[in-house]
Amino acid sequence: MRHQLFIDGRFVDAESGETLATLNPHDNATLADVALAGKADVDRAVAAAQRAFPAWSRMAAADRGRILLKLADLIDAHTEELAQLESLDTGHPIRDTRRLDVPRTAGCFRYFGGMADKFQGETIPVEAGFLNYTLREPVGVVGQIVPWNFPLMFTSWKMAPALAAGNCIVMKPSEITPLSSLRIAELMAEAGLPPGVVNMVPGLGHVVGQYIAEHPGIAKVAFTGSTATGRRIVQASAGNLKKVQLELGGKGANIVFDDAFLPAAIHGSAFAIFHNQGQACIAGSRLMLHEKIADAFLEQFIPLAQSIRLGNPLDDATEMGPLTSALHRERVLNYVEIAKGEGGELLAGGKSPSGELAHGCYVEPTVVRAKSWRDRVAQEEVFGPFVTVLTFKDDEEAMQIANGTDYGLGSGLWTRDLQRAHKVARELHAGMVWINSYKRVNPGSPFGGVGQSGYGREMGFDAMREYTQVKSVWVNVDAQVPPHFVR
Ligand code: NDP
Repeated sequence: MRHQLFIDGRFVDAESGETLATLNPHDNATLADVALAGKADVDRAVAAAQRAFPAWSRMAAADRGRILLKLADLIDAHTEELAQLESLDTGHPIRDTRRLDVPRTAGCFRYFGGMADKFQGETIPVEAGFLNYTLREPVGVVGQIVPWNFPLMFTSWKMAPALAAGNCIVMKPSEITPLSSLRIAELMAEAGLPPGVVNMVPGLGHVVGQYIAEHPGIAKVAFTGSTATGRRIVQASAGNLKKVQLELGGKGANIVFDDAFLPAAIHGSAFAIFHNQGQACIAGSRLMLHEKIADAFLEQFIPLAQSIRLGNPLDDATEMGPLTSALHRERVLNYVEIAKGEGGELLAGGKSPSGELAHGCYVEPTVVRAKSWRDRVAQEEVFGPFVTVLTFKDDEEAMQIANGTDYGLGSGLWTRDLQRAHKVARELHAGMVWINSYKRVNPGSPFGGVGQSGYGREMGFDAMREYTQVKSVWVNVDAQVPPHFVR
């Protein structure tokens, strides 16, 4: 496969000639040297996207959809290759990349391929003599900044609705994990995507990401990443008043009530935090237990966490791989020190494994009981296999704790009481709520947050609204004279 920038339908070197090594987090060995984009490359990519826009946006929506459907089939046909690439570059266990990441990527392109010719404007009943209708028009050239935690899947979440709606794209995959996105670019060309419609410029966030957010030729920027960087993007976007869509961090409350079916809650809560090594904005990182069941829950949850098989992501038996970078492992381990400093009790993990995994970016599944829900480990996003346990005595206290952060992305609850389930779902400060499950996603279901977790929605009809703007068209069908200035 190619390791260059993808601009105007061709793989090209960065103008500066610079490259950056992408590493395998299992052993920190170099996987490939990938071209590192700079500002001049972003300018080339924007110019290519602007040239491609008129034809792409005017193409029949069904024809755009057909290309996305073909791409989805190509992704399915390359499942094993893409799964291996993603596992090598990110550290996700191969059983997950085969079963979740790749099928979800194909599914997302397929959903929006089908959506392309089903998203429509409206006719509005206005005053007599006039017809008023709306057109949903693409925004133009959109900049998309994708992080390293689900690079393949997020490439589809960002690109599929944007393309279905007729936009052209300049995408910055994370320079830590660019390989699967670049392979998708190759498959896009094979599926018949015209040159310039999608351009990929892996580069440094503070250089290329920042420049995309500032660029006057880009009409919208969509970003997934930390809240701090999201704030910088909003500031940078002010120059040409870009549309901005932000999917930021989270500190998911996972609430287990005393009437919950415990076996399901225990396994569901382990998936909520340890899937993808906890590197998920929707991770259930605050495990909130009713005090009556807390001991019984932890008696089974802790051994379950300790029994998770860490190992080489390419091994079929591996349940948890390494974190995606050494820098991030240090960040996560630092939270163990913060927890100890705050008087938290370490119930499991809290360190990197020894032995043959010591050279990789591994962290053991970590369970910490915090002293207070106001502690840093109960408020800040750790973004690793690190769950903070809190207890509560009644529903009122549960809601106070659950809603007691600045974030508002995903939350979950476990109960057998129907009334309580819906009441709590309504009261949670969150963009998504899971009842007796956790971390469900589907291309038809809106995904996004409130508060410091960002704004805008990915997936479903909402995503099509995000990637279009409304034009209202007035037609005088039989009014004789305009109502004003009649003498
Ligand atoms: P960042 O928010 O810094 O990075 C996310 C993406 O944004 C990367 O592609 C990054 O590029 C890019 N970026 C960085 N600075 C800018 C900028 N000024 N303008 C535009 N784009 C920029 O997150 P980190 O990777 O540093 O991770 C830190 C924390 O962020 C994590 O611990 C986690 O809490 C949170 N995070 C949340 C994610 C989510 O899914 N919501 C995803 C990733 C991180 P580059 O890699 O070159 O810095």
